[in-house]
Amino acid sequence: LVSREHHPERSVIEVGGVPIGPGFLTVIAGPCAVETPEQTLQAARMAKAAGASLLRGGAYKPRTSPYAFQGLGEEGLKILADVRAETGLPVVTEVVDAHDVELVAEYADMLQIGTRNMQNFSLLRAVGAAPRPVLLKRGMSATIKEWLMAAEYIAQRGNLDIVLCERGIRTFETATRNTLDISAVPVVHRLSHLPVIVDPSHSGGRRDLVLPLARAAVAAGADGLIIDVHPDPSIALCDGDQALCGDDVEKVAELTESLGVLM
Ligand code: PEP
Repeated sequence: LVSREHHPERSVIEVGGVPIGPGFLTVIAGPCAVETPEQTLQAARMAKAAGASLLRGGAYKPRTSPYAFQGLGEEGLKILADVRAETGLPVVTEVVDAHDVELVAEYADMLQIGTRNMQNFSLLRAVGAAPRPVLLKRGMSATIKEWLMAAEYIAQRGNLDIVLCERGIRTFETATRNTLDISAVPVVHRLSHLPVIVDPSHSGGRRDLVLPLARAAVAAGADGLIIDVHPDPSIALCDGDQALCGDDVEKVAELTESLGVLM
């Protein structure tokens, strides 16, 4: 279902009226985690300044440590919905449990499946039956074939509104949080009709790498970018080291505007 062999035309997926796919370079930006209403609204304004047309933000955070901030849950979803009403930015947010899909879909415009859940097959089936587009992140140790098979699980349940997201894979390199597999972009475009976007924030894990990796993604033909921003990364409850702030935010807009593509 996701193979290009049977569907030669590349697909455009709409998220709350915003297109992702060929002919567009869609920017999704926002805080890694929803912390407070003020922080989320400020981050959404930064997202707009970055040229984003969609707001990201985690209400359910799948953290490596059980002692780390786990997200605000439904309270975070309500904050996201309020910020959407204020800014007009449709919301992309992660769902980590099959039982929460209905609840998250009530608030969100797009359901994100994170790297740790790429092969959580009951969750994939649940979002496959949900009336929302899905952002499927690549598992940190998954091959491209495994990633496309995970998309197939979603599609098989009837939901073909899937966007793939390359977010870096685990390699022997320790200088970066993950290694951005830039070749995944053209490889996926050859194998699948689904759009593919890149997450330069989670790939490098470092603020100074976000713009260079974003440029590389665009040059490789990515259909979009998903970027962390935070009004004050020094007090962020989640992944502050990779959040853009200050002047760097406008540089994302300059990058996409310079290409003259519709956002
Ligand atoms: C995220 O985008 O909030 C996230 C946790 O990303 P990943 O699943 O790629 O680590």
